[in-house]
Amino acid sequence: MATLEIGGIDCKRLAEISGTPLLIYDEAKIEEQLAAATENFQSQRFETEVVYAAKAFSCKAIFEKVRQAGAGLDVVSGGELYCAHQAGMPMEKVYFHGNNKSEEELRMALELGCGTVVLDNDMECRKLARLAEELKKPIQVLLRVNPGIEAHTHEYIRTSGSDSKFGISIAKKNEIKALVNIAMLSDYVQFKGFHSHIGSQITEAAAFEEALAIMLGFIREMRDGYNISTKHLSIGGGFGIRYTADDKPIPLGEMAEILARTCERLLDEKGVRLEKLLIEPGRSIVGEAGYSLYKVGFSKDTDTKHFLFVDGGMSDNIRPALYQADYSCDIANRLGEAKNKTYCIAGKNCESGDILIKEAKLPDTACEGDLLVMYATGAYGYSMASNYNRAGRPEVIFVKDGKARRVLKRESYEDQLRLEADEPLSL
Ligand SMILES: *Cc1c(COP(=O)(O)O)cnc(C)c1O
Repeated sequence: MATLEIGGIDCKRLAEISGTPLLIYDEAKIEEQLAAATENFQSQRFETEVVYAAKAFSCKAIFEKVRQAGAGLDVVSGGELYCAHQAGMPMEKVYFHGNNKSEEELRMALELGCGTVVLDNDMECRKLARLAEELKKPIQVLLRVNPGIEAHTHEYIRTSGSDSKFGISIAKKNEIKALVNIAMLSDYVQFKGFHSHIGSQITEAAAFEEALAIMLGFIREMRDGYNISTKHLSIGGGFGIRYTADDKPIPLGEMAEILARTCERLLDEKGVRLEKLLIEPGRSIVGEAGYSLYKVGFSKDTDTKHFLFVDGGMSDNIRPALYQADYSCDIANRLGEAKNKTYCIAGKNCESGDILIKEAKLPDTACEGDLLVMYATGAYGYSMASNYNRAGRPEVIFVKDGKARRVLKRESYEDQLRLEADEPLSL
C-alpha cells in the first residue's frame, strides 16, 4: 500500500511527529504560485504589482515567502497589520482594506508606515485625512468602488448599483468626486486610484475582462467629466483553484498574463493611461498547497450512509458547513487501493452540520487509525478556524525537499486558558 508523500515526506511520519489534525503546506507549491503570478503579470506599458491577500492564510512564515517573492500584502485588520509588521514585511507594500476600520486601526496603519489604505467610504476618508494631519504621516489611498459585477466560479452577473457592504457604486460619480476632493485637500493623503474586487473562486477570465472594461471606462469618465486623474487600478483577487475534479480553473500564471494583455488592449480602446495595475490573489496562492491530515476514528452505518469520523472538523475547516464547499480526499495510507465505497466524512464537533465531505469514494478497507487527507485546504481553513468545542487549532507545518518545519504550534489546553481572567474592573 502506497502512502502519500508531501514535499518528499511520508504523511505517516508527519502524523507520528506532529499528531493530527495537521495542516501541511507544500512550500514549493506556494513558491510556484507566487512565481506564476509575479512572473506572468508584467507589462511594458505600466507597472504591475501582485498583492497577496493575507486573509486566505496568515502567519509570519507565509508573509516571509510573500516578501521573498517581491509581492505586496493585503491586510484587513489591525491583527493582520501587526503580524505583517512583526514578520518584517516592507510596510510600503502593505494595503489596508476593510469597510469599517477603527480609528485605532487607521492610526496604527499610519504609525507603522503602511503604504496604502483602500478607502471604503467618505466617512473613512475624512477620518484618515484628520489622523494623517495629526500624526504628520503621509498615506496613499485607493478608493474601493463597485463595478456592478458579481462573479462566482464560472458564472457572473451584472448588477445595477449594488447592495454590497463594500465600496461605492461606480454609478455614484458625484459621491466619488466629493470623496476624492476630501483626499485632494489633504497635504498627507495622496489619492492614487481605484480598487474593485468582484468575487471568489472565479475559474474563467471573462468576468475579470468585463470588470477591467467597466473600470477603465469608468476611469475615463471620471477623467473627462470630473477631472479626476487615476494612476493606479487594482482589480482584486478571486482567482479559482481546483478543489475537486469538477473544478477546471485557468492556471494563475495564465490568468495573470491574460489580465495584463487585456488591460493593454483596453487602455488603447478606452483612450486612457495607467501607471500601475494590481491583482490581489489569496486562495490561488495557498489553497492547493495545503493538505489537512486527520486520523480516522469510529465509523457508523445508517440506513443510507456510511459515516467515517475524523479527529477534526468545522473547528479547523468551516467552509463545507458554512457554504457547502466541496473537497476531495483520500486515505493517505491506502493510495493504491480501489475506491469502492462511498463514505460521509464527518468531524467530531458537536453540530450535525459538521460534515467535511458528503460523499467521498474511498477503499472499503478504511478503518480506525487510518489517515484521511483532504486536498486543497490551504485557503480559508486555518484562517477561519475557531475554538469551537475548545478543539484547539491544529498544528501547521511547511514541508519542502524532504525537510519539515513547524510554523504554527498546536493550540494546547493551556493556550486556551491563557485568556481566562478574574479581574475587577476599576470603574
Ligand atoms: C478576499 C479578497 C481578496 C482575495 O480573494 P481570493 O478569492 O482569496 O483570491 C482580494 N482582495 C480583496 C479586497 C478581498 O476582499
